[in-house]
Amino acid sequence: MAKIYFIDVTNRDAVQTSRIIMSKLQKTMVNLYLSEMGIHQSEFAFPYVKHERNYVQANLELKELGAMGNLVLEGWCRAIVGDVTESLPTGVRDLNISISTSDQMITHKFRGKLDREKVIEEMVEAATYAKKGGVNTLGVNAEDASRTDMGYLIAFAQAAKQAGADRIRYCDTLGYDTPMSIYERVKTLAERVGLPVELHCHNDLGMAVANSIAGAKGAIDGGVDAYINTSVNGIGERAGQADLLSCILGLGFARDMAAYEIADPINLKVATKLAKYVSYAFDIPIPINQPGVGANVFAHEAGIHADGALKDRRNYELFDYELLELDEDVERVPPRRVITTGEFSGLAGFRHVYGTLGITFADNTEAQRILELAQVANAHTQQPLTDDELRFIAKYPEQATKIFTLTP
Ligand SMILES: [Zn+2]
Repeated sequence: MAKIYFIDVTNRDAVQTSRIIMSKLQKTMVNLYLSEMGIHQSEFAFPYVKHERNYVQANLELKELGAMGNLVLEGWCRAIVGDVTESLPTGVRDLNISISTSDQMITHKFRGKLDREKVIEEMVEAATYAKKGGVNTLGVNAEDASRTDMGYLIAFAQAAKQAGADRIRYCDTLGYDTPMSIYERVKTLAERVGLPVELHCHNDLGMAVANSIAGAKGAIDGGVDAYINTSVNGIGERAGQADLLSCILGLGFARDMAAYEIADPINLKVATKLAKYVSYAFDIPIPINQPGVGANVFAHEAGIHADGALKDRRNYELFDYELLELDEDVERVPPRRVITTGEFSGLAGFRHVYGTLGITFADNTEAQRILELAQVANAHTQQPLTDDELRFIAKYPEQATKIFTLTP
């Protein structure tokens, strides 16, 4: 039976969102956590954008050095030859290329520049070019797929398959589908085209997680693998998109989902660290009722609930809190006195902090070098550095230097 994979798009979709910002170091940390968690792929960059290049190259190097396990680092660009041409020199070899397919967008966005036929032509040209350029895995994104005429969507996906695409991304760009409609549409698409389907669901009507799971079920029932697009804490354009942890929990514990298997072994113990880190980096608190990691998810107060939960946790809890390391903290907040490191720290305080992490330096020159890097890191993120960030800088100073270097 076909299986389910995760492609997390926090580092592309979430960071492009209005008022949402993350530094290149923080994006790198997200990639490291995703790989530690066992997520299949990170849509980690816009490789054709100049200020992303050093970050892209450094992350590909980290992957090469074994720091990111099996995580696939995939870049996003428009389905035009120009973007693919600009992307390939960074070394990125996994790509998703995107173009709108609904009549709404073809008519009112392209405004006569492209029609249905030309959209397919442009996509095929970009896909063929990418494959010839050595791209390993190529996803072709149908933007606004949920509002696209079904016959045309099938023709578009068939053309993508012929051009060498490995997956078709079904974008519910506006969160328009329901679990029932996305199941049927994706199943039909899978049966008719025979290409693995990505589910890219937005949350405008609050159904992103349900739609992702129903869509994945449709793909698998249609005979192909499903790739669910997620973001950490559900952050994304407007009302956001499918939350990574909620999707994993949904597949694990919702009714009748047991037969639908996640391909990679997922380490749920990393989920809390990742959720808290992204919350910290974005400076957006985790809602009290956030599935899995919200403060109230395992809290009971009302008489009947508390009594029931104390008698047997299964009365009011579907899964065990022990699955998630809920006490994990990413910030440096030990009790009483705390020494932190920042852009104006000195050698003594800095050595002390690294000492508490069990990291020592060969000599003063090395210590001085890492100190300077940590200062730059702090000037770069403009937030107190976390322990894992400090560990990363000490372990991969060369890549860290590259990540901090923005080339205009
Ligand atoms: Zn999106």
